[in-house]
Amino acid sequence: MVTHVVVIGAGVYGAAVAASLSSRGARVTVVDAGAPGGGTSGATFSWTNSCGKQPRHYHDLNVAGMQAHRRLAAEVPHGDWYHETGNLEWAATDTDRAALERKVAAVLDYGYEARWLSRAEALDLEPDLDPAALPADGIAFFPREGWVEPTPLIAHLVSRAVAAGAEVVRDDAVTGLDVDAGAVRAVRLASGRRLATDAVVDCAGPRAARIAELAGLTLPMRNTRGALVHTSPVAVSVARVVHAPHVHLRPDGGGRVLLHNPEVDGAVHVSDTGETRVDPSAVDAVVEAGRALYPGLRAATAESVRVGERPIPDDGLPVLGRVVELPNFHFAVSHSGATLCLHAGDLVAAEVLGEDRDEALAPFRFERTAPVH
Ligand SMILES: Cc1cc2nc3c(=O)[nH]c(=O)nc-3n(C[C@H](O)[C@H](O)[C@H](O)COP(=O)(O)OP(=O)(O)OC[C@H]3O[C@@H](n4cnc5c(N)ncnc54)[C@H](O)[C@@H]3O)c2cc1C
Repeated sequence: MVTHVVVIGAGVYGAAVAASLSSRGARVTVVDAGAPGGGTSGATFSWTNSCGKQPRHYHDLNVAGMQAHRRLAAEVPHGDWYHETGNLEWAATDTDRAALERKVAAVLDYGYEARWLSRAEALDLEPDLDPAALPADGIAFFPREGWVEPTPLIAHLVSRAVAAGAEVVRDDAVTGLDVDAGAVRAVRLASGRRLATDAVVDCAGPRAARIAELAGLTLPMRNTRGALVHTSPVAVSVARVVHAPHVHLRPDGGGRVLLHNPEVDGAVHVSDTGETRVDPSAVDAVVEAGRALYPGLRAATAESVRVGERPIPDDGLPVLGRVVELPNFHFAVSHSGATLCLHAGDLVAAEVLGEDRDEALAPFRFERTAPVH
């Protein structure tokens, strides 16, 4: 019987898995090499969506992820990390417009909410947008999307786990796993501590493959880096996620706005010693693109730039659940973890404790990633 579970990593996934395991009665130890929320979950756009996600079972998992956020926010009256104000998106070229039309048609076909807005309707939602930056019509609006603030979400989930008896170990990396007779028996930490365990959940995000390796498993990943530009506080009304042709943005709390585009991702450089640098010209350009959309951002400066590493399994889909050849080792690893963490984390936790009731994780199992010989 599983009684003690070690959760490796305290990002959105580790926090969600730990909270779910604890609420199901397990004794949980969460171990992080740094501080909870200090990994990718602290440097993410965290847009909650299932917009253009394929195939269908991946779309459905994301929709369930969005519903789980909605439920948790309703349960926790003062939990102010969840913002379901919708997402606006439009295109500048005929090719991109056709792609957006196809995406809207596909999600409508799946029963997902989406509608087309005119410029005037978009301005009703976002009055500080420059009308000249908007097309006269053809603005897609996805009303059930939004964003989460991962840090307070993680704080809530970890504190829920701790209230239910979980231990949180910080600043102590997992350096080894004792595997014997087809099971993980203990987790070894850099401090020299050894945690005997009945099960392990790998929630190490972009370092998940390293943890898998400690158990003799190969998890192919193709992580990518992204940069996010946080502005200084500025008196401009931005209430939604906006995907405009040259910039993506959303509110970032305290009057700040979070800016992103593919060009700023491309301007991330990592030195041989692991130091990251983002070309200042790309940062200036994304701020300028934001100003072109919301003239009120003229007063804003780039207050900070954060670089995050997207944990992406090789085929782009999540890796979730039990490993057949090592049945007490479980994965909870994916991109779009801000959207998926609560729902997918709960499915994984249920399986760890043998409380799973359906085959929801079947398309996301580790075994599909194994090389074909
Ligand atoms: C630029 C960017 C934009 C994104 N935009 C979105 C978006 O709009 N919507 C969305 O849903 N998702 C988005 N994502 C993806 C999402 O942020 C991630 O999927 C999610 O944050 C991953 O969470 P995690 O808990 O798996 O990993 P992390 O947050 O990285 O947590 C893993 C933890 O494991 C710890 N760890 C690692 N190795 C060890 C070890 N050996 N021992 C102990 N602990 C260890 C780390 O310290 C870390 O705290 C984006 C990501 C990036 C980078």
